[in-house]
Amino acid sequence: MRNKLQHYINGEWIDSTGSETAEVLNPATEEVIGKISLGTEEDLDKAVKAARAAFPTFSQTTREERIDLLEKIAAEYKNRKDEIIEVITEELGSPIKKSEEIHYQMGYAHFTQAAKELKDFQFVDKRENSTIYKESIGVSGLITPWNFPTNQTTTKIASALAAGSPMVLKPAELTPFAAIILAEIFDKIGVPKGVFNLVNGTGETIGNGISSHPDIDFVSFTGSVGVGQKIMENGAKTIKKVALELGGKSPLIVLDDTDPEYAANTAINHIMMNTGQVCTAATRIIVPKAMKGDFEKALKTALPQYKVGNPQDKDTVTGPLVAEKIWNRVQDYIQKGIDEGATLLAGGTGKPNGLDKGYFAKPTIFTDVRNDMTIAQEEIFGPVMSVIYSNSIDEAIEIANDTVYGLAGYVVGKDEEKLARVAKSIRAGRISINNAKSDFSAPFGGFKQSGIGREWGDFGIEEYLEPKSILGMK
Ligand code: NAP
Ligand code: MG
Repeated sequence: MRNKLQHYINGEWIDSTGSETAEVLNPATEEVIGKISLGTEEDLDKAVKAARAAFPTFSQTTREERIDLLEKIAAEYKNRKDEIIEVITEELGSPIKKSEEIHYQMGYAHFTQAAKELKDFQFVDKRENSTIYKESIGVSGLITPWNFPTNQTTTKIASALAAGSPMVLKPAELTPFAAIILAEIFDKIGVPKGVFNLVNGTGETIGNGISSHPDIDFVSFTGSVGVGQKIMENGAKTIKKVALELGGKSPLIVLDDTDPEYAANTAINHIMMNTGQVCTAATRIIVPKAMKGDFEKALKTALPQYKVGNPQDKDTVTGPLVAEKIWNRVQDYIQKGIDEGATLLAGGTGKPNGLDKGYFAKPTIFTDVRNDMTIAQEEIFGPVMSVIYSNSIDEAIEIANDTVYGLAGYVVGKDEEKLARVAKSIRAGRISINNAKSDFSAPFGGFKQSGIGREWGDFGIEEYLEPKSILGMK
C-alpha cells in the first residue's frame, strides 16, 4: 500500500488538520493501491504562508543557484526512475513501456530543459531610457490533472523554480503518488524550506482555495475548460494572473499524396497513446474523399496490431481509462456517435473481449463523421477517432478550424509546400508535420478556448516572471 496521509509543507511532511481521506485505485485491476489525505483550507493556508515566507530569499537567488538546484533535481529524479515508472503504471494504468518512454522521460526533460534555458535567459534588458528587470511573480499555485502525472507537474515546477517563484501544488486526486515522489526528491536534495509545498485534496476545497487565495499571485492550471472558467472567475477577485492549459479537439489533415498506411497508423497512434487521454491528441482525422477506400482498409488492418491490455506487459500499447466515471463518459460519447449516424468502422460500446476487470474501452473508429456532430466537437478523452472526409485542402483547413479549441494540429503528406501551407493555416498552438519529434524548447499551449499562456522552455519560465521597467537607471 502506498498510503501517504501527510502533506509536504515548509520542508516537512506534516499531518493534515482534517481527517478525510481518499482511496486511489489501479484502473487496470480496480484494486485500491493506497490512500491520501484530503487537505483542508487550513492546510492550504499553512502551505501558502510557507511559500510567502520563502519568497524574499528564494526570489533573490542567483541564476547559478537555481541552475544547480534544477540539475540536482534532475539527477535525483533519474535515481528514482524505476519507482516513477512503477507508480505511473499503477495509478494511471499506463503501459509500463510508455510510462518509461513518455511519462518518465517528459518529467526529466522539463527539469533539464529549464536548467538549460536558465543559462542564457535574459532577466535584464536595456531599452532607450530604462532597464527592464524580470522578477519572480510571487507565490504560484499549481493545479494539475491526472493524465500526465509527471509531465503536467514538472513543467510547472521546473519553470517556477527557474523563475524563483515558491509554489503550492495540488495534484489530481486520481494520480497523487507520482507527485509525492517528486516532493520526496525535492526534500532529499534540499530545495529550500517553503519553496515547494504539496497539498493533496479535492478540486472543490484545495483547487478553489488556491484560485481564490489572496496570497497567491499566479495560478497555473491544466485541466478542463469548465474548471478553467471557475479559476478565472475566482482569480478575478484579486486580479490574479492565470495560465490555463485546457482541452482540445485537434485535427490531423491527411494530404492526398500520403501513403494511406502511414496516415492510418499516425491516426491510430493518437487514439491509442495514453488511451486517448491526451489533450493534444488528433481526434478529428480529415481525409481526402478519394482516399476513403484505401484509408479505411489501412485502418482495419493496422488497428489489431495495437495491443490493448495489461499495463504490466511490455508489448501493451494501450491500457485502461483512468477511472470508472471516465469510462462511462467515453461510453456515452460512443453511443452518441452511433445515434447521430456516424459509421462505426471498429470498436463500439462495452469492454474489449477478455478484459472485464479494469476500465478498458474498445478502441473505436467512426467514419463519415460530419464536423457538426457531437463526437467531432466535444473532447472525448478516450480511444475514439472521428474520420471526416473532405473535397479539397481548403475545405480540410476550414473543417480543421471549425472548433472552439486550438491546442494542436497535425498534417501528414509529401508535398513540402502544401505541408507548410496547411501547418500555417491551422489556428492552434502546436502543429506537427509528419510525426515530427517533440521539442522541449518550443512553447506549448492553446489558441481559442484551449487556454491562455504557454508552458515549456523559456516561454514557460516567462509565465512566472513580472517585467519591471526602471527609468533613468544607468
Ligand atoms: P479537471 O477536472 O479540470 O481537473 C484538473 C485539476 O483541477 C484536478 O486537480 C482537479 O482536482 C482540479 N479541480 C477540479 N475542480 C476544481 C475547481 N473548482 N477549482 C480548482 N481546481 C479544480 O480535468 P481532468 O479531468 O483532471 O483532466 C482532463 C482535462 O485536462 C481535459 O479537458 C484535458 O484536455 C485537459 N488537459 C489539458 C492539457 C493541456 O496542456 N492543455 C494537458 C492535459 C490535460 P481533482 O483531483 O479533485 O479532480
Ligand atoms: Mg486563448
